Amino acid sequence: MVTTHYLQLNPHIQLCTGYSRSLLIDTHTSNYWFIHNDYAHLFEKNPCIQLKNIQQHLPHHSEHDIKTFVNLLLSENLGFLSPISQKIKTNPPQSSSNTALVHTISVETSQKMPVLEVETINECFGDYSAGTLVFHCLSTINLYTLLTHYSTSSAENIHLFLDYTHASAYDFKRLCKFAPKLKQITITLSPREKTDKKENCYLIYLTSESDQLNRKYSLLQRQPLIPTWQTHHNYFNKRVHITQRGEVKNAFEARYSMGNILTEHLRNILKKKEFQAYWKITKNQIDVCNDCEFRAICIDQRMLKKRANGTWFAKEECTYNPYICQEMGDKNYLTLNQCGVYCRGQGFRIDVERFIEIRKRILTIED
Ligand code: SF4
Repeated sequence: MVTTHYLQLNPHIQLCTGYSRSLLIDTHTSNYWFIHNDYAHLFEKNPCIQLKNIQQHLPHHSEHDIKTFVNLLLSENLGFLSPISQKIKTNPPQSSSNTALVHTISVETSQKMPVLEVETINECFGDYSAGTLVFHCLSTINLYTLLTHYSTSSAENIHLFLDYTHASAYDFKRLCKFAPKLKQITITLSPREKTDKKENCYLIYLTSESDQLNRKYSLLQRQPLIPTWQTHHNYFNKRVHITQRGEVKNAFEARYSMGNILTEHLRNILKKKEFQAYWKITKNQIDVCNDCEFRAICIDQRMLKKRANGTWFAKEECTYNPYICQEMGDKNYLTLNQCGVYCRGQGFRIDVERFIEIRKRILTIED
């Protein structure tokens, strides 16, 4: 390696820094690599740095460590060397559509056909070509009738959520062949976890425990980077949910109705400021998530609360603890509270002594 050469990250690589470590995410393949925060901060301050200068910025890292890191970047196509300093910017997120009001519409359905019209769906998706329709089936229904009706909409993908007790009524192989837009069927309350594929459709069986995990922390399935993660919420942005009675909410999980499509046009409800407020909460504004290295790819579905000072928090903990890099089920996992981290309506508080002691203990075990 010529030490006068300049090192920088490739444009398709995004950096997401966390409290304990950082992530380099390949936006083409959705693979990611953990890196030491010192390297992440180095790139944040010096996006293009001469090899010979790295050591002086990182005096605590040995020459061997730095070499290993640079080799990782080059061998995995994460970074490149050039003889001259050239500032290559990472690709800005592409705006996918001009006229879409939403990208995901979820609907509750039981014996009766949902109240939502196909024309309304098409209007909401506008020129967005990858719209997703999600049906939450609350009882056993004629899925063929439902899919025949809604397959004529401009939605590109259809997802179904079913209870395991209702699932035995369906021949999924036949159903998936019948409806090519059907891309995912999630079967909840299953006795065991399983993933299967029929035609173009993934069948995901979740137990009540894995469903909890899946809802709170979607890293169980490898997610691609969300291009709008720095400006919008990864789950709520451009999403709407319609209940059986026509109530309009931000998501299936949301408690409050923002209007009713039986009395008001959906378009008007979607344009309300209070409806879109949820879309614009970024992970950087949410307690704990703002310290998490996964926030560019995490689609967590917990409802959020706002404090008077404008900060946001979730009442329930997510299943990943970014302060000790442990996920629920890991050997050394501890909850945030056990680590001395408290997120309440009154504010975010850390019991510093406890926090330091726990981190020291976990890091020692890992060494
Ligand atoms: S703390 Fe949990 S919910 Fe927040 S970004 Fe990290 S994994 Fe997602």
